[in-house]
Amino acid sequence: MVYEVTARRRRPQLFDSLVGQQFVVSTLKNSIEQQRIAHAYLFSGPRGVGKTSAARILAKALNCEKGPTPYPCGVCSHCLEITRGSSPDVIEIDGASNTSVNDVRVIREEILFPPQSSRYKIYIIDEVHMLSISAFNALLKTIEEPPAYVVFIFATTETHKVPATIRSRCQQFLFQLIPLEIIKGLLKEVAVEMGVEAEDEALFWIAKEATGSMRDAYTLFDQVVAFSDGAITLAKIEEKLSLSGLENLSKLVASLLNGESGGAFDVLEELLARGISVEQTIKDLGEYIRCLLLIKRGVTNEALLGVNPKRIPQEIREGFSEEQLEAALELFLELYRNSRFSLNPRFELELALSRLSNLSKMVSSATLVEQLIALKTTLAEGAEVVATPTTTPPRVEVPKVEVKEKVVVVKEFNKALLPELIQALAKERQPAGMVLSQASNLYRDAEGVKIVFSSAYALDNANQNKDVLINLLQRVAGYEGRVDFLKEAPPPVVNEQEKDPLLKEIASMFRGEVLETHS
Ligand SMILES: [Zn+2]
Repeated sequence: MVYEVTARRRRPQLFDSLVGQQFVVSTLKNSIEQQRIAHAYLFSGPRGVGKTSAARILAKALNCEKGPTPYPCGVCSHCLEITRGSSPDVIEIDGASNTSVNDVRVIREEILFPPQSSRYKIYIIDEVHMLSISAFNALLKTIEEPPAYVVFIFATTETHKVPATIRSRCQQFLFQLIPLEIIKGLLKEVAVEMGVEAEDEALFWIAKEATGSMRDAYTLFDQVVAFSDGAITLAKIEEKLSLSGLENLSKLVASLLNGESGGAFDVLEELLARGISVEQTIKDLGEYIRCLLLIKRGVTNEALLGVNPKRIPQEIREGFSEEQLEAALELFLELYRNSRFSLNPRFELELALSRLSNLSKMVSSATLVEQLIALKTTLAEGAEVVATPTTTPPRVEVPKVEVKEKVVVVKEFNKALLPELIQALAKERQPAGMVLSQASNLYRDAEGVKIVFSSAYALDNANQNKDVLINLLQRVAGYEGRVDFLKEAPPPVVNEQEKDPLLKEIASMFRGEVLETHS
């Protein structure tokens, strides 16, 4: 027996065996039943989802001896000829290699002759979007007023490239990607049919790789069967097709989770040594992180995740926060884009892994703000505490702030403190209140508190009342350190990034800079 590839052997011969296209199938069947045959059909949709098969089934439905019928018999001479591709009245043309206006002219001349033995003369033009503009124009005239016995069936993967004038004269059908579960089910059927044992996970992987195309799924299935020796397993697929493998990816990500970039580099080296490309590794890791993010967001649908979530260790599934995973995925998407132009894609990947080993320490700005507010409240309450994170993202390191003394009043040393100071002096009827009302700013830096005055005159006055003002700061703000008076100058520029080591680390992790911070 001649070996026939699965995609061909399993090519649907009836409308009802077209999987995943219920809407198309029921509409076509209805219109045939009601004898409403259009002169031109346009089948559009992704590759490998059944457009050409549907066109041939439609041809049979129209030309079957028992037809037109939604259920062609499949055994009459017309049906058999169409199945074999030898019917003189069903002409299949590949639009990709017959793009010129002359090719269309030939069709225009041919259609003047009625079908030889069938009811209809049917032209199936595949990849119709490849025709040239002049060919489309010639075709347009043909489909505007064709003889009653002519039916055109156009198929295309890129419907937007078909001129609107053509589209509007066709009955259009949109074919859809075939759901993963359906593909997997059909693969299972084939495996049983061929007497091949197949692991569920292996079939799931093949179905996932096919990304909605039944033809691709069958082709990959044949390839896997060829090296599987009667039993298809995921382990064999990973080995023979040089895949990263979920276990290896989990090992790598676990290293990152624990901040051990060394371990991650070891796994990477193993993968690359096995012949897996850097690009593939980036893609696989990106998919893995996407999967973690979706799990974290509550997705449980295996088809959407691309993997059974239970196959990923729990510590990894729960190890990162949403923000951390979003940041990591962003990093990988950028890496994927950049690696193609890189001098050395491997270095790019290693750099990313090195950065990601800090990922579990990354805290979102929202969490950071929450923690700061909590810290402030605790301090204001005057409790003797050691700050702890208010939320508990794993392994978040927060600088430990120990409050040794009981602080009665803690004020923020900024401009807003000035009115309070002035009011206190006014209550005591101190003339120094007048002096302070000319202050334009108050802040605290490493040296101590600074009060800024707008004029040299005011500064002079302040210096004369220095003792009163220092005393005031002690009483009102509980401050006992150094106090300086300054004349107004351009405000000190402090780079936020330099100031906060955590911000600096986050900025370096994502090769960005801090634009602004909100307090
Ligand atoms: Zn028939």
